[in-house]
Amino acid sequence: MTGGATVWLTGLPSAGKTTIARALADRLRAGGRRTEVLDGDEIREFLSAGLGFTREDRHTNVQRIGFVAELLASHGVLVLVPVIAPYADSREAVRKRHQAKGTGYVEVHVATPVDVCSVRDVKGLYARQAAGELTGLTGVDDPYEVPETPDLRIETQGSTVEESAAAVHALLAERGLTI
Ligand code: ADP
Repeated sequence: MTGGATVWLTGLPSAGKTTIARALADRLRAGGRRTEVLDGDEIREFLSAGLGFTREDRHTNVQRIGFVAELLASHGVLVLVPVIAPYADSREAVRKRHQAKGTGYVEVHVATPVDVCSVRDVKGLYARQAAGELTGLTGVDDPYEVPETPDLRIETQGSTVEESAAAVHALLAERGLTI
């Protein structure tokens, strides 16, 4: 069986994490790779229902996702995780868990700048924050700790979705994770 791995796409809301994960999953599946996308909204509905957006709850959410991702990856699945994961120590704990289990782990920072993200505003969160209807928006009035040494850092402005997905795909291919 091919080795699984977790590919965590971290970045601000509307950076392109989900879009890239879906496009990448399509590519990988077309190549016969067993792939799963752990969608952040679905996780919050089913696995992390009741958790909010405090530092502690965000940490707990990320650890739960990391736990499930590692389980799947340990069974040969390539797991794509498009989830903000704003705190470095939360991400580090997930990486360490994978390392301890001998399971592959790749961190991709989708580093689209906040001014681009806030124009895209896929879910209307930036507008709601600006209107005072919401507080604690990552990258605006809640922290985002930029990964210092991600396996890959990409900016999506000026690139097509296919180009961005291809950049991640190339890294995975280099590491023997696409087949
Ligand atoms: P996130 O999951 O990071 O919150 P989404 O993937 O939901 O962000 O939204 C990103 C938006 O940016 C989508 O509307 C997508 O079409 C657009 N976009 C433009 N260029 C790119 C690119 N190169 N990669 C990913 N998304 C892009």
